[in-house]
Amino acid sequence: MIVCKFGGSSVADSNQIKKVANILTSHEARRIAIVSAPGKRNSEDIKITDMLYTCQRLTSEGKSMTTEFGQIRTRYLEIAQDLELSTESLAAQIDEIEKNLLAGAGPDYAASRGEFLSAQVIAASMGWEFLDTQTYIFLNDDGTVDEKSYQLLADAIDDTKNYILPGFYGSGTDGKVKTFSRGGSDITGAIAARSVGAELYENWTDVSGIRMADPRIVDDPAVVNELTYQEIRELASVGANVFHEEAIAPVRSVQIPICVKNTNDPESAGTMMGPSRDTSTLPIVGISGKTGYCRLHIKKHFLNKEADYKLKLETILKVYGIVPEFSSDGFDSLSCYFKQKLLRDQEGLIGRIVEELSPDEIDTEEQIAMIGLVGEGLYEARGILGDVSSALAAEGIAIRYLSYGGSMITCIIGVYDHEYLHALKVMYKAVSEKYVS
Ligand code: ASP
Repeated sequence: MIVCKFGGSSVADSNQIKKVANILTSHEARRIAIVSAPGKRNSEDIKITDMLYTCQRLTSEGKSMTTEFGQIRTRYLEIAQDLELSTESLAAQIDEIEKNLLAGAGPDYAASRGEFLSAQVIAASMGWEFLDTQTYIFLNDDGTVDEKSYQLLADAIDDTKNYILPGFYGSGTDGKVKTFSRGGSDITGAIAARSVGAELYENWTDVSGIRMADPRIVDDPAVVNELTYQEIRELASVGANVFHEEAIAPVRSVQIPICVKNTNDPESAGTMMGPSRDTSTLPIVGISGKTGYCRLHIKKHFLNKEADYKLKLETILKVYGIVPEFSSDGFDSLSCYFKQKLLRDQEGLIGRIVEELSPDEIDTEEQIAMIGLVGEGLYEARGILGDVSSALAAEGIAIRYLSYGGSMITCIIGVYDHEYLHALKVMYKAVSEKYVS
């Protein structure tokens, strides 16, 4: 069995839904599909989920949502009409949702209705079964999946039938609708794939696979054929939003591969994600970064002999709401890096550190960007960091930080914020010249 998930752009209008139907019926193993709410049809458009959140907010503030809700109604009815479906029961469901919103339903209920309606329209147009995930998927209070969901969903699936499921939501511990984090239909897809023991989880979107860098920064970055689950996690940690990282967990332990594919170009291979990959041809799969870090640097003679110095520092930082993301320790010094927006009371923090830890020197440096080179083959490859640092040097870009981190899969290179975009382009070029044909 292949479980497919279609994102918002794949179900944005009736034309897109027809492509979805073609994809599903072109392979008999594709028997379960999870769908998002209709997304943007063009760059000016608004996603249905965003409109539903707006409606809920407006009513909760005592304002009218008539215009916004009217647009949602029109959008669904138009899709149904274009697909030559009867609109009677759909219109009644939309009226019911409007009534519930006006009666004070919360944001989770509001947002979930996008997927709820989308799945019903698509199920009706294909003659497949609609299965409401609210009955089978349960979320814990922290938003994670309750393990019992896998069996409940598996039991609900009949081997002789095909199903369309709404993504993004389930039931909370109070039995009411609860949504996953944004983009959470990916998680529903992963849960369904695990429940039925799928051989493959296909994640259909509007790009032909995962790219090595953000195409808004780098011109036409290469698509990678293969990634590991761990590389996805590492990429997320350095700011690359390539795949919902919470959607990895359900399939990771049972090693179901995920394939990201393009609804608008179904023949292209896309990107496969799984437990391991051959790293010999492409040691690095991605380059991404984040700006706005602050470095706190402390120097103290014999610091290495004070076993709990770092612990004390971390405790003080915590009191000030600061959690370091990167660090480097020297013999007589240490540096830690955190998001500079967390540094709300610099004077207070420095004063407290001076008072309690008596450093010989203490200073901060702001506006540092951290760029991660990610790849399972990075550690064993030879010369990548040489090429990257030479390329940065040739452009006069200073390296402010350098570390393999804990995993050895990501190398973090720090540069100044104002050189971030330039540095990222230079680093991508150095890597792609060597490894991308
Ligand atoms: N519709 C939801 C969102 O926009 C969930 C999803 O599409 O995955 O976040």
